[in-house]
Amino acid sequence: MKTYNHYINDEWVEPSSGAYLDSENPFTGEIWARVARGNAEDADLAVKAAKEAFENSDWADMRPTQRGKLLVGLAEIIEREAVRLGEIEVRDNGKLIAEMGAQTKYLAEWYRYYGGLADKVEGAVIPSDKPGIFNFTRYEPLGVVGMITAWNSPLLLLAWKLAPALAAGNTAVVKPSEFTSASSLEFMELIREAGFPKGVVNCITGLGLEVGQPMVDHPDLDKVAFTGSDVAGQKIYESAAKKIIPVTLELGGKSPNIVFEDADFESAVMGAISGIFAATGQTCIAGSRLLVQRSIHDRFVERLIEVAKEAKIGDPMSTETHVGPVTTPPQYRKILDYIEVARKEGAKCVLGGKPYAGDGVRSDRFVEPTIFTGVSNQMRIAQEEIFGPVLSVIPFEDEDEAIAIGNDIVFGLAAGVWTSDIGRALRMSEKLKAGTIWVNTYRAVSFMSPFGGYKRSGKGRESGQESIKEFLQVKSVWIAQQTTPANPFIMR
Ligand code: NAD
Repeated sequence: MKTYNHYINDEWVEPSSGAYLDSENPFTGEIWARVARGNAEDADLAVKAAKEAFENSDWADMRPTQRGKLLVGLAEIIEREAVRLGEIEVRDNGKLIAEMGAQTKYLAEWYRYYGGLADKVEGAVIPSDKPGIFNFTRYEPLGVVGMITAWNSPLLLLAWKLAPALAAGNTAVVKPSEFTSASSLEFMELIREAGFPKGVVNCITGLGLEVGQPMVDHPDLDKVAFTGSDVAGQKIYESAAKKIIPVTLELGGKSPNIVFEDADFESAVMGAISGIFAATGQTCIAGSRLLVQRSIHDRFVERLIEVAKEAKIGDPMSTETHVGPVTTPPQYRKILDYIEVARKEGAKCVLGGKPYAGDGVRSDRFVEPTIFTGVSNQMRIAQEEIFGPVLSVIPFEDEDEAIAIGNDIVFGLAAGVWTSDIGRALRMSEKLKAGTIWVNTYRAVSFMSPFGGYKRSGKGRESGQESIKEFLQVKSVWIAQQTTPANPFIMR
């Protein structure tokens, strides 16, 4: 069994408590690794190392071009190691190798993109209204950024934070989920190989309340970039408010995937399936509310069931598998609880609705792809994030009703629209209150395109050019061109 310690100041450091957490392979049930169970003392060590690196290291004096080169170098190492990283994600997380193979390679693009952007962040010369004043702005890094990630896509969520934060000149303390820490820890060896000065990137592991919260509360932490549930996000936002430090929050969703009668039928069916059963529904952007125009509702549901029934459930290491295990025991129980809630609320289960008990899979970690019809948008299964392979189908009459239902939710992460009418596509993308709108596609993300939530789905954006500004602050510099004494008692 592998033992992982904290990575602090370029060294593997044992947890000060001496305690470890087990890391389980969700498919086999094997405890394949243990990770350090951090506490406030470990958080203090890591934040101080990052602070020292920010203020007094080669990093502090490094020009943006050189930072960019380090990031591009890291991208090349990631490409070389992509297969191995993908396998770790599958072992630790239960993600499909079919998806991870490409995703870990794609990670490199975030580091390459922000490596390229590092020396293109320009301030401005302000056309000052004051005579004899030269006024310009410069963008400066914030300092030490705490990066807290969820268990469902550890390396991807980390790339969205780490690449722009480093390009901007910050240092980092990474705190991955206690359920899936291994890939982020392995990633630290890649950081080391790429040649980042010591202390620039650190990684501490353990429970949110035991090590994450002390990191957030640490007086030397200058920003939190968080991905996780809205409940934990709110708590972190409150803690950050006490210190008046900025946050970016990437939180949950309950995204509407909206199918109009004029859509390409078969593409929409595949889009609906991919929206909810890909990644076993354990994705923030799951299209978990499927809104189908009433005129095609029954036919659409029939075809949906037909396709979903064909999904191969099983070993995530097999490239043939479509639906893998649920990653964590609490998540498995939560999904089954919601299926019960749906039944009690009067929704009709037309597919699945119970643990999956096929050959060669454990009995306590698989849930059948599940579809409920007769769902009203007020039901809990339509309003609350389940984070599993459970779809709520809701009928609607027309565009106005689709918009009303789509927006009648506390979340606003993403929405899908399936239509062949370009006017409708544009109207819907304007009216839906979500950070990402997909038309005739679903579940697409890119390093180039901003991603983030409206409403309770978050604050700030990740990816794209703008997001580097989330890791910078602007300074306005005023220089008088002559030094004639002026009246000190009036504002200039
Ligand atoms: P979670 O909120 O339970 O935990 C997320 C991380 O926060 C973990 O590392 C955890 O240890 C840490 N944490 C929890 N409480 C903390 C605290 N008080 N202080 C500091 N750290 C704390 O979420 P999860 O179950 O790991 O992930 C699932 C959630 O993440 C879902 O709601 C999903 O929608 C969301 N998510 C959002 C995005 C996005 O980009 N918007 C992407 C992936 C997942």
